[in-house]
Amino acid sequence: MSARILDGAAVAARVKEEVAAGVAALRENRGITPALATILVGDDPASEVYVRNKRRTAATVGIRSVHRELAASASQAEVEATIATLNSDPGIHGILLQLPLPAGRDGEAAVRLIDPAKDVDGLHPVSLGYLALGQPGLRPCTPSGCLRILDHYEIPTAGAEVVIVGRSLLVGRPLSIMLSTKERNATVTLAHSQTRDLASVCRRADILVAAIGRPGMITSEYVRPGATVIDVGITRTVEGLVGDVDFESVSAVAGSLTPVPGGVGPMTIAMLMANTLMAATSAP
Ligand code: NAP
Repeated sequence: MSARILDGAAVAARVKEEVAAGVAALRENRGITPALATILVGDDPASEVYVRNKRRTAATVGIRSVHRELAASASQAEVEATIATLNSDPGIHGILLQLPLPAGRDGEAAVRLIDPAKDVDGLHPVSLGYLALGQPGLRPCTPSGCLRILDHYEIPTAGAEVVIVGRSLLVGRPLSIMLSTKERNATVTLAHSQTRDLASVCRRADILVAAIGRPGMITSEYVRPGATVIDVGITRTVEGLVGDVDFESVSAVAGSLTPVPGGVGPMTIAMLMANTLMAATSAP
């Protein structure tokens, strides 16, 4: 193995330290304790784990968490009423609706009802609009986490060829916008399932980001020697969590590589905490 391992867990720990310091300062200077509301609808085990981890992390950085649990049978109107109540509560600074909702409920429509000032997931159309306009706002957590890893390890993006595989609104698309700003100056290719000769497109990359959801799909033939590889993929298998990158073959070729677990995953939660602090800091 030659690749340097980009330790997302360590970078996330640093982010959480910064957030904890910011939370303490906000409480001391303005008497505000940031509060994050999580909404879980139904009993999907993976969603339960995600929400529990977010609440636990909030507690470790001094963010108050408020939890609303709705039965799997809850109607769209009940989900929306829960959001409305949290929107109008001045003591709540961030609202996170855990997606996906059970079948038949419209998660996107529900997210659109979240007060954009409390949209700590950064997925509301207003947040995505600010992102596209290059104006300050709450940014989606996973792409922010990817950038923070690059920054931490001083991997330059200016002038770099970046190939992102996966164009979801959760990861690939916002990351492509963030990297193509004048602050980042990367040359970005956003690849997807219809991309022709994906392996050769990926081999152009100085920085390759895999956000696909297909375990082990990115093998060494997709990677230019010495490239940085960010593995966003997380798939639960009987052997545990597996990324989109075939760690064994790629670690022999890449210059730097995020592991799964312990790479982008912990960063996503850390950036959610940073967003909650930001929302609380900007609250009137
Ligand atoms: P998604 O909405 O399903 O999007 C997957 C993307 O991959 C789509 O753009 C799809 O292309 C593309 N794709 C699928 N098969 C492909 C192929 N054979 N070749 C090239 N592109 C292909 O998934 P997502 O929500 O972005 O999540 C992606 C992965 O990241 C999942 O494993 C998820 O669990 C993980 N994830 C991790 C974190 C974290 O915190 N680390 C956060 C979010 C997501 P089309 O658009 O053409 O269909």
